[in-house]
Amino acid sequence: MNQQVLARKWRPTTFDQLIGQEHVRKALTHALNTGRLHHAYLFTGTRGVGKTTIARILARCLNCETGVSATPCGECRNCQAISDNRFVDLLEVDAASRTKVDDTRELLENVSYAPSQGRYKVYLIDEVHMLTTHSFNALLKTLEEPPEHVVFLLATTDPQKLLPTVLSRCLQFHLRDLGPDLIESHLEHVLSEEQVTFEKDALWHLAKAGRGSVRDAMTLLDQAIAHGEGTVSADNVIEMLGTQGVSEIPQLLSDIAAGQATDALSRISDLARETPDWMALISGMQSLLHHVAIAQVTDQGINHLSPGEQKAVRELAAVMSPEFLQLAYQFALTGYRDLPMASDARSAFEMLVLRMIAFRPARAGEVISGS
Ligand SMILES: [Zn+2]
Repeated sequence: MNQQVLARKWRPTTFDQLIGQEHVRKALTHALNTGRLHHAYLFTGTRGVGKTTIARILARCLNCETGVSATPCGECRNCQAISDNRFVDLLEVDAASRTKVDDTRELLENVSYAPSQGRYKVYLIDEVHMLTTHSFNALLKTLEEPPEHVVFLLATTDPQKLLPTVLSRCLQFHLRDLGPDLIESHLEHVLSEEQVTFEKDALWHLAKAGRGSVRDAMTLLDQAIAHGEGTVSADNVIEMLGTQGVSEIPQLLSDIAAGQATDALSRISDLARETPDWMALISGMQSLLHHVAIAQVTDQGINHLSPGEQKAVRELAAVMSPEFLQLAYQFALTGYRDLPMASDARSAFEMLVLRMIAFRPARAGEVISGS
C-alpha cells in the first residue's frame, strides 16, 4: 500500500461521512433540502478540522447533475470532477500564500460571470483574514450584492481579524476540534474496512498525535502502516512518533507522589536508554497532571481517556493533594520552558523530577528514600 493512500481515499465526500461537526452538517443539510442556502458562510476553527472538506462536499451538493440536495450522487461528471480536484467552478484560494494575491483579485473580478460547468460557482477563500486590502474590498463589494449563482465559503483560524462588515454578511460556524476518541474510532473503522491488522493502543497514540485533526491523524496512520510494513502496532507507532517513554510517565509521577527519589532516578536512567524526547516527556507529564487535577474535581472529566489512562489518573488522584498537583504542574511548565537552556536535557529532566520531590509535602512519620 502506498503512503498517503488512506488519507485521500477516506476523505469524506458526503455530509453523512463527515466526522464530528454535527451542528454544521445539520444546518447545511437543512438549508440544502429546503432551498434556503445563504450566499456566504464563514467557517472558523483551527487547521485540519474540515473546512476544505466541507467546502468540497457543499460544492458537490450544489453542482451534482442529479440536482441540488444534501445527498449528491458521487458518480456524475461534476461529482467526479470535484473529487479529482479539477472542477472549474470550485475556486480555492489560500489567502495566506502571498503568491496568490493577484489571482485572488482576478478571481473576484470574475465573480459576476456565470458558472461554466455547474450550477453554482463556489469560492473557498482560506485564511480570509490575510487578504490584501484591495482584495478584501473587492470581496466586501461582492458580499454586499452577491450574484445568484455564487456561494462564498470563507475560512479563517483568526476571526477576530475580520471586519464587522464581513462578519455581518456571513453565516458563521465554528468548527470544533475533534476529540481523540472520535478520531480513534474513525481510524478503527478505516482499518477494519481495509483489513489491516492493528493494536487498539496504537490507534489511541495516533489519534492523540493528530491533535484534533482527522486529516493529520490519517496521514500519520498512512505513515504507520508503511513503517510497520502493513500492520499497526503500538511499539511501532510510539517509535515512529518519537514518544518513547511517555508510557512510563504515570509510574514516574507515582514515584514522585510517594517521595521515592531513588526509584524515580533509576526509572529515568532506564528511560534514557530509549533516547526519548525529554521535552515530550515533560509535556506528557503536564497533560497527566492536568487530567489528575480534573479527576479530583469530577470523574466525568476524564471520560475521554483510554481505560488504561483513566486507571492511572485515578490512582494518582487518590495520592496527590490538590496543592501538590498545582505546584508540580507549575514546575513542569517552567521545566518545559527552561529545558532548551540546559546544557544537558536529561540532567534538566532529573532536576525537574527531584524538584517536585523536594517540594512534596511530607506525611507525618515518613522517611524520604535516597536522603
Ligand atoms: Zn453527482
